Amino acid sequence: MLNQRKTLQLYILIEIGLIASYRVVEYAYPSSGVHFWKDVFYLVPLSFGIFAVYYSYNIRCKKQNCNAKQVFRGWSIFDLAWPNSKCYRCGEDLNK
Ligand SMILES: [Zn+2]
Repeated sequence: MLNQRKTLQLYILIEIGLIASYRVVEYAYPSSGVHFWKDVFYLVPLSFGIFAVYYSYNIRCKKQNCNAKQVFRGWSIFDLAWPNSKCYRCGEDLNK
């Protein structure tokens, strides 16, 4: 089974692939009449990106009095971190 770190890395890879495919479509069909398809290729990475952020926001410690968020550890971009197999604050095993 994938742990949360692997799952999140997979989501980011998918997101990069989606953005790349949008770029390819944009490059292949410059200003032609395919607005519908361009919109689809734009909206899918956008909504998947929101989903990936939502997923990482919900990676929390399961211990009730800790409940520390493992990815968004603070309010700054520098507080972002990969989730580990153990809680960074209390050491609780997150994969059980
Ligand atoms: Zn914890």
